[in-house]
Amino acid sequence: MRRITGLAAAGAVALTVAVVGYVAGRALRDQGPAAEATRAEAAEPDTVTGSIASRPIASPANSQSPATAVPSLALAAPSRPPLPRQSAEPGPTCAGGPDALGVSRVVEIDTAGGPGFGFEHFKAHDFLEAGEVVLTFDDGPWPGNTPAVLAALAAQCVKATFFPIGKHATWHPEILKRVDAQGHTIGSHTWSHVDLSKKSPSDAKEEIEKGISAVTMAAGRPLAPFFRFPALRHTPELMAYLAERNIGTFSTDLDSFDFKMKKPEQVIASVMGRLKKLGKGIILMHDFQQPTSIALPELLIQLKANGYKVVQLKAKNAVATLPQYDAAMAKAQTGQTVDARPTGSIVRTISGYSN
Ligand SMILES: [Zn+2]
Repeated sequence: MRRITGLAAAGAVALTVAVVGYVAGRALRDQGPAAEATRAEAAEPDTVTGSIASRPIASPANSQSPATAVPSLALAAPSRPPLPRQSAEPGPTCAGGPDALGVSRVVEIDTAGGPGFGFEHFKAHDFLEAGEVVLTFDDGPWPGNTPAVLAALAAQCVKATFFPIGKHATWHPEILKRVDAQGHTIGSHTWSHVDLSKKSPSDAKEEIEKGISAVTMAAGRPLAPFFRFPALRHTPELMAYLAERNIGTFSTDLDSFDFKMKKPEQVIASVMGRLKKLGKGIILMHDFQQPTSIALPELLIQLKANGYKVVQLKAKNAVATLPQYDAAMAKAQTGQTVDARPTGSIVRTISGYSN
């Protein structure tokens, strides 16, 4: 378990977290301008769980960083006035009724220059107000669990950000398409969830790029330039690479450690307990984990009951995939070989029926 400190992030990250809308139940009322904020950073990691074989990939095991609880050094420097909060009509697709948790605010993130988010490692950008949370789910898409997470979010008219694993997306593209169709934001989380800090730079970049291409291909359209390192193990070199690619990195403010839990109640207690301490934050959970998928309906009810507000992240621009990795993914998907002859010239019926 290695620690990496220091960060890197492009010094001159031109980040803009734009508040693109406030929503009161769900229906998004688009608004203009935005606010900005800034902070600094730090780092550290956790454990990883292995390779992705037939069964998945579990997630991190973070070590709690004291930095997590750091109050915000945030200096809000809004160049424009904050948007007024306003109520909105319930959206037509919201099943939750007037008491649903809903999305209270939508922020647009400009990932030019590769900004990092999540106080556990990156402290430069503190864009959440007290009581605000961002829900994030890693390691999907996965049958059963991801659909259950989607159902829970839909019932409360809540939008989240997903960081799917490339291989899982390739195996279950139909589930990823549902995540996308339901209006959630989708980033990526490498091709096979290896610990990138233990890989050579070229292998690590390939893991990142294959993940992006696989997830994009599975969704069938360009997605958000949002990336999360497996086990949150970033390196300065890879942060610099992501900066060149204009991809934003998401660590977390509040790691639920749900991957260590077997009971849904533990997941709820973990999130609510940490939230009580921090007061706000980007919450890391796993749609891949069954206890989390079972816990989510009650967790969302408790968030609402305790006055927390959900902020939805959106990307200003879509991620640009690299053609060579798209080609590699396409090839892998069709099982294509180097041979390009048509099947008819390779396989010929020589006995049996004739016509
Ligand atoms: Zn993960």
